[in-house]
Formats: sequence, structure tokens, C-alpha cells
Amino acid sequence: MREQRETVDVVIAGGGTAGHVAAIQAGRAGVKVSLIEASSMLGGTMTDGGVFMPNHWHSPRQAVVQGIGWELFKQSKEVEGLRIKPMTERRAVDTPGYYSNINVPIYATLAEQAALEAGVEIHYHEFIGEVHQDGNEWEVISFARGIKRITRCKELIDCSGDADVVRALGRPVDKARARQPGTLQYRIEGIDMQQVWEGEAQKIYDEAMEKGELEKGDWAYFGIYPFLWYLQMGGHNATHIYGCDTSDADGQTAANIEGRKRMLRMFEFVRDRIPGAERAVLKQMYTRALSREGCRVIGEHVVTLDEFMAAVPYDDAVCNAFNYIDLHNEDNGCEEIFHESEELIPTVPFRALMPKDTSRLLVAGRILSADRKSLAGIRAQCTCMAMGQAVGAAAALAVQSGRASRDVPVADIVALTVENGAVPLH
Ligand SMILES: Cc1cc2nc3c(=O)[nH]c(=O)nc-3n(C[C@H](O)[C@H](O)[C@H](O)COP(=O)(O)OP(=O)(O)OC[C@H]3O[C@@H](n4cnc5c(N)ncnc54)[C@H](O)[C@@H]3O)c2cc1C
Repeated sequence: MREQRETVDVVIAGGGTAGHVAAIQAGRAGVKVSLIEASSMLGGTMTDGGVFMPNHWHSPRQAVVQGIGWELFKQSKEVEGLRIKPMTERRAVDTPGYYSNINVPIYATLAEQAALEAGVEIHYHEFIGEVHQDGNEWEVISFARGIKRITRCKELIDCSGDADVVRALGRPVDKARARQPGTLQYRIEGIDMQQVWEGEAQKIYDEAMEKGELEKGDWAYFGIYPFLWYLQMGGHNATHIYGCDTSDADGQTAANIEGRKRMLRMFEFVRDRIPGAERAVLKQMYTRALSREGCRVIGEHVVTLDEFMAAVPYDDAVCNAFNYIDLHNEDNGCEEIFHESEELIPTVPFRALMPKDTSRLLVAGRILSADRKSLAGIRAQCTCMAMGQAVGAAAALAVQSGRASRDVPVADIVALTVENGAVPLH
């Protein structure tokens, strides 16, 4: 194994939803960034995980998240030749926000190009395994095929989705025993929906459940939506894996196996039993099962459900976090809790992105410091991207001013993100 030593300003663990934006922001601000990503592309859950539905760029009343994520989203629509409808032309349907889809290959490629243009060194297929603090510097040890990389840096950002860096440091994390179910994304195509009769499809599904041919969770939202919905979605985002824990390779492996077993069972059921689905094809399967929640760091502040629902104003808010609570469960599929008014726009305090009693270490994405229920709202992709942009800005400003990131004035962080297109906070 080749041992490679490097020195950069900032190391970012994970180039997923939060991490790719953090890297682009820090790189554009002029610092040297190393982005270590375990998979083969940028975007994480949004791209190679197959959850290509970032919500929410705007509320029914105003833009809530823009910045680098929005810039890439707009660019990807241009490449696709699609016009983004202005929000005044959009109407919220069943949730107070707007879902939008990205084209995975285009978005992942544009994100990669933007990172390279910002001078970011990308290391795919590489895992951060060990981390040591040495005075005001970090030593980060990562492993890839044939390479052991030892990188020294001044600031470290954990965007790993499972707090891998924070855990490697032995810092405490909160890992709820009751977790939301996970999902392996796949898509069945070729169902002739004109031939499908809702009542008949429901009866066939109900009978298969009664006979034990299908398992609870194969169709995730059995308690709140008809089975027709599964067929319309081609199974995408519609199967649950209970107890899914992807925080280590053993858990990830078990979840992948369970997800694929459920996928195949559902495909065979649909093709063989649902009239209109005789020509169904199992068209797409994404690379890995995904957890909706894993390890949350214990930060200088823990965001609570009450704070989130009341949109409590924080002095150190770094970005907006507009979303409803979307808590998936085993009872009926999902519990949704909406804000009393669409004028309530929650925010993320900088302290929730700082693991407690640490310095020169920040986090972003679904590992932020929040209680379980508020996480079910804050974990939305646009918010993860906005958090990523804020910590990327904070780390860059820290390196340039010779301070630790936790001491960078929040006004400076927000100003830098606004220079890069973020929504000014009110
Ligand atoms: C099934 C499902 C459906 C969802 N639906 C929606 C939706 O419709 N809309 C919405 O907005 N949000 C949705 N969410 C929530 C949202 O997608 C996630 O909360 C968000 O993408 C998490 O972003 P992240 O950056 O924290 O993690 P990720 O995007 O998962 O990124 C983490 C990255 O870190 C890498 N990594 C991990 N460990 C290491 C390591 N040790 N070294 C190097 N790299 C590492 C991973 O490969 C990955 O690329 C959904 C989530 C799930 C699971």
C-alpha cells in the first residue's frame, strides 16, 4: 500500500448532499480543500442514493434556500433544456412547499465540475478511518485501494451522514434506538396504468399481505395511501427497510441485502399478479440502502422539535430550514407534522453544527445536533446543502483569519454565503 502525505487547509469527509456544497464554497473562498468521498460521485443520497428530490428551495411565500445548491440545480435544468417555473406559478399541493427533481447523471457531473473549478481535490472511493488532533492541526488518515493517505489540515468538516469523523474522535453521538425505516431506491417501469383498476389492485395487494406473500413495509405507506400509489411510483421511494442502520459496513451490507430481497419480491408480485403489469420491467436500482437517520452529534446546541415548530429565532442562525416533519414509521408508514403557518421559517443555529467542546471541527447534513423529531424536518436536502455552504464558508474564513471556525463571526459566515447566492436571513 502506497503511503501518501499531504497538507491542505480543509478536509471534508463525505461529498454528499451537504459535503459537495461545503467543498465548493470553501474552494471558491480561496482555501485548499481535500474532499474525501467513499463512493464514486458527488451528491450522496441525492445522486448515487437515488433520492433525487431536493425540497424545499422556496416556501409558498419566499425563497428559503438558494446558494450553490440552487445554482447547480438551475444549471442542470439548463443542460436538460428545461425551464424552472417561477415559484409564483407553482402551487403547493399536499405539503406547504415544492418538490423538485434533479437529473442524477447531470447534477453529479456538474457538481464535480464546479468542485474542480473551485480547486477542490476530490478523492473518490476513499474512507476516512482515523483522525487525530495535533495542537491546532488535524491529521486525517484515509484509505483507498492501494493508498493510505495522511492529510494534515487546519479545519475538518464531517459531512459523512453518519458522523464518521466525530465517532473516530471518540466524541459522543446520539443514536436513537428507534430509528426511521430506511429505503433502497429502485424503479419498476412498463406498468400500463390504463389497465390498472385501483380497487382490484388494492384487493390483490391486501390478499397477498393476508396470505403472508408480501411483508409489511414492502409497500411502505400501506396505512395512508392506496396501493395504486406504489404502482404509479413504480416502487420508487416506496419500500421500507425496518431497523436500517448504515452507520457501519456490516449494517450497510445487511440493509442492502434486505432492500434487494424486498425489491425483487415486489417486482415479481407486481409483474405476475397485477393486471396491466404483465410487461413490467425492473429498470433501475441504486447502489446502496439509505438510512433516514443515523448518528446525530451532540453539539453546542441541540435543536428541539418545539424550537423547530415555533421557528425560534437564533442569534447565530446560518441558514433556513423550511420543511415539515416527515417521520417515517412502522405503524402506518409516515407521520407528518406541519407548521401552523407557512410564514414560520425555521433556521439552523451555528452552534448545532459544532460538536460540543471541540475546536476547528464542524458538521453539516443529517448529523447536525438536533433531537430525533426535529431532525425529521431539518434533514431535507436543501437545508443540508445550505448547512454545507455555511460550514464551508466558516472553515474558509477561519483559515484566512487565523482563527478557529467556531470563533468566526456568524455575520461574516452569512455574508460570504450570500455573496455565493444564499438567501439573506431576515
Ligand atoms: C429514503 C430517503 C428518502 C428521502 N426523501 C427526501 C426527499 O424527498 N426530499 C428531501 O429533501 N430529502 C429527503 N431525504 C432526506 C435527505 O435525502 C437526507 O437527509 C440528506 O440527503 C442527507 O445529506 P447528508 O449530506 O447528511 O448525507 P449524504 O447525502 O448521505 O452524504 C454523506 C456522504 O458521505 C460519504 N461518506 C460516509 N462515510 C464516509 C467516510 N468515512 N469517508 C468518506 N466519505 C464518507 C457517503 O458516501 C456520502 O456520499 C430522504 C432520505 C432518505 C434516506
